[in-house]
Amino acid sequence: MFDRLRAFHRPATVAAALRLATAERRAGGRGAFVAGGTDLVVQGDGSLRWVVDLSLLPLRYVRRRGAGGGWTIGSTTTMADLERSAALRRFADGVLCDAAATAGSPQIRNRGTIGGNLANASPACDLAPPLLALDASAVIAGGAAGARKAAGGRRTVALERFFRGPGRPALNGGLLVEIVIPAPPVPRGGRAAWAFQKLGRLQSDIAVVNAAAGVIVGSDCRCRWARIAIGAAGPTPLRARRAEALLVGRPFDRDAAQAAAARAAGETRPVSDVRATADYRREMSRVLVGRALDECLERMGRDPWASW
Ligand SMILES: Cc1cc2nc3c(=O)[nH]c(=O)nc-3n(C[C@H](O)[C@H](O)[C@H](O)COP(=O)(O)OP(=O)(O)OC[C@H]3O[C@@H](n4cnc5c(N)ncnc54)[C@H](O)[C@@H]3O)c2cc1C
Repeated sequence: MFDRLRAFHRPATVAAALRLATAERRAGGRGAFVAGGTDLVVQGDGSLRWVVDLSLLPLRYVRRRGAGGGWTIGSTTTMADLERSAALRRFADGVLCDAAATAGSPQIRNRGTIGGNLANASPACDLAPPLLALDASAVIAGGAAGARKAAGGRRTVALERFFRGPGRPALNGGLLVEIVIPAPPVPRGGRAAWAFQKLGRLQSDIAVVNAAAGVIVGSDCRCRWARIAIGAAGPTPLRARRAEALLVGRPFDRDAAQAAAARAAGETRPVSDVRATADYRREMSRVLVGRALDECLERMGRDPWASW
């Protein structure tokens, strides 16, 4: 499969990984970083001449960011690490753990990393919707010309701008170092909830559609902040901003949730493929966003079928 491969590097630092990739690119020939290999190996690109394996880099961690309540997650942290993280489970209703737990089989989750999931830039990747609903950013080292000028050769890209199209991450040859999640802006006396939903043919399948929602209400029960993110319903995982705007400022109840879900479906740009038709994906976007928002209502201690 990788018959043309002539070099396999296994550096122990980010700097060494970038140096090796730069040297290989100068020498000519296509190459790639590899983390868990669950996408790269399956894609089986026989034209690869070199690979830089990231598995020895010290990037496998889930850490709190100071006292502020945010998080940083190293790019080689596996799906299984996320699924099992007791600390992350207590953050944002464990929305990231729930999404990680739906990705493939245990074997895939033991190898597949958060960095590979995002860098592969599949519109259907399961970690993008919850991370978009958490306002996450990607920290990238090396690659683009601009990066060398940035402090320490690193730049931070909001996840929404990270996805440029199917298989097109905003890496420009750089290395995804970590994911940064800020502290959610929950006001005093307010409440917050998050939820993830996925529809796949079987549990281990790639999503036909996936969605995540996050809602913060003030002590007056009006929505202060809303995030709705949908995957596999456009060329990139997307934020349904018009649906979010519909929620903000209104009492957060089931009517508002269903109206937002309908509007979110209107913001999708799905395609028809082997997994589903575009129409089915659009309709399932409405259903999954509605379920995610219902779950947020339940988590806030409200019956989704009753008004506040
Ligand atoms: C049977 C099967 C089932 C699957 N099911 C799901 C599923 O349900 N949901 C889902 O979301 N995914 C699924 N996947 C896809 C895959 O497992 C995930 O996307 C996984 O997280 C990829 O991570 P990896 O570390 O294996 O990436 P790799 O295969 O190592 O890399 C993927 C791509 O990202 C690049 N890359 C990796 N790390 C970095 C980095 N730090 N910086 C820059 N570039 C990098 C590589 O060069 C490559 O282009 C499935 C895959 C298989 C084979």
